[in-house]
Amino acid sequence: MAYTASKDRYSEMKYNRCGQSGLLLPAISLGLWHNFGGVDSFENGRAMLRRAFDLGITHFDLANNYGPPPGSAEEMFGSLLKTDFSTYRDELIISSKAGYHMWDGPYGEWGSKKYLISSLDQSLKRMGLEYVDIFYSHRPDPDTPMEETMGALDQIVRQGKALYVGISSYDEDQTKQAISILKDLGTPLLIHQPKYSMLNRSIENGVQDVLQENGVGSIAFCPLQQGLLTNKYLNGVPQESRAAKSTGALGENEVTEEVISKVQELNSLAENRGQSLAQMSLAWVLREGRVTSALIGASKVSQIEENVKTLENLEFSSEELSAIERILTD
Ligand code: NDP
Repeated sequence: MAYTASKDRYSEMKYNRCGQSGLLLPAISLGLWHNFGGVDSFENGRAMLRRAFDLGITHFDLANNYGPPPGSAEEMFGSLLKTDFSTYRDELIISSKAGYHMWDGPYGEWGSKKYLISSLDQSLKRMGLEYVDIFYSHRPDPDTPMEETMGALDQIVRQGKALYVGISSYDEDQTKQAISILKDLGTPLLIHQPKYSMLNRSIENGVQDVLQENGVGSIAFCPLQQGLLTNKYLNGVPQESRAAKSTGALGENEVTEEVISKVQELNSLAENRGQSLAQMSLAWVLREGRVTSALIGASKVSQIEENVKTLENLEFSSEELSAIERILTD
């Protein structure tokens, strides 16, 4: 059936300014790393994208290698853009990335100009787009001069193939360097995409300060630690979960007793706040306004609905924050 977006789509979502740029991003964005590949259900992918947009999620995050097989998430997204979202292109922020292995030979991964430019050309073809809104260097390359990688991002913007540029998984020093080179080139860094959740806080030791000092936004990936920070694994590993799937990036061995005992305590705290653990985990990532957007994944429409309801309670008392600290550092 043809899709018409909900008239109320902008009534609930909160939009945050991305650093000191002109761009607003939804507090919750949706990533297509899992569950939108060639091995997944097209109709489920379509239902999730439609519902997400109806709930005000205007930002969809992709990468060249998302699938499996690599490239197939961009293909699925491209098909749905054409059939369902073609009249809404200007209401969408679509991102893609290059950095991880995409094709064989010396030009199919990392951070050379050769790879980034040709990979984005392939991504645009797969999605049927003339430009992406944000293009990322997906990971730092220890062997390519940073000037070359940032130069490629600048060139991509000047060619009109991306409106803004970002970096992902760069550490504090690499982030400082990228910001400085891009500034000199006249294409300011819009955003950093780091891993960040209650169970992975490494960006609190430097990266977040650098971003704040330089007016750069951030979008936190795996804010639910791939599902660990939900009620899903409280009583073992359910069959349909990411940890149980052969194509999932969460190993069953990561669902340890130690993690689950912390998750159980966090779950009780969330219940006391009248939230699910997923909702409290997302609210925590967004606390203090240091993160522009929490970049969730989902395997079902109901997860997106539950996660967007996070916005009904983003406040934490100092007692709640201390209790979380105690659980996490115990
Ligand atoms: P999350 O931490 O949000 O994990 C998503 C998974 O958690 C879902 O697939 C689902 O797992 C489970 N889940 C979500 N909501 C609920 C809920 N309410 N109740 C129960 N379970 C829930 O994020 P992802 O790991 O999926 O990453 C999000 C996005 O971040 C990616 O799509 C990608 O765009 C980006 N990313 C970027 C990386 C980078 O290097 N830049 C690396 C990794 C991700 P299940 O399938 O078990 O139902």
